[in-house]
Amino acid sequence: MPLKIAIVGRPNVGKSTLFNRLAGKQLALVDDQPGVTRDRKEAPGRLADLPLILIDTAGFEDVTDDSLEARMRQQTEIAIREAELALFLIDARDGVTPMDERFADLLRRADLPIVLAANKAEGRQGDIGIAEAWGLGFGEPVGLSGAHGEGMGELYGAIRTAL
Ligand code: GDP
Ligand code: MG
Repeated sequence: MPLKIAIVGRPNVGKSTLFNRLAGKQLALVDDQPGVTRDRKEAPGRLADLPLILIDTAGFEDVTDDSLEARMRQQTEIAIREAELALFLIDARDGVTPMDERFADLLRRADLPIVLAANKAEGRQGDIGIAEAWGLGFGEPVGLSGAHGEGMGELYGAIRTAL
């Protein structure tokens, strides 16, 4: 049975990029504009020997920033209800932002294992953000680069441990 994983977090942290990497296909739209992907997308994928069903969450681009966050929260709530594990992404270069904190509050109330990853952490550019991410209280953050495929072994280990 594949493991159903919801990739969640605020707009522009790299959810769709990671989704595409794990799905191995360009199924989710990736764009430089925050929140350009619409609605939720599902695709089968794989991480090493672990078969996955991936859920990508997104907002709607044609709304104001405030309602974008509301949309994202709604999509996240639906996705985590369907998923067996939530992969919570932050942007390691930005560190923990107030919007990340609000997503963390939502996830803390949910009854499923959470793996926290600080994405865009290629090289050492994410080190401060990874350290900051400990403060969200989801245990050891995984340093990740979805775009460059770094940290996939650590991600695998963290998912295995969380299950
Ligand atoms: P989403 O809104 O969370 O789905 O984020 P996207 O996947 O659409 O990515 C938003 C932006 O971040 C795009 O410009 C991506 O190319 C970029 N991005 C995604 N992952 C990485 C990464 O691992 N490293 C870097 N440097 N940029 C990334
Ligand atoms: Mg997206």
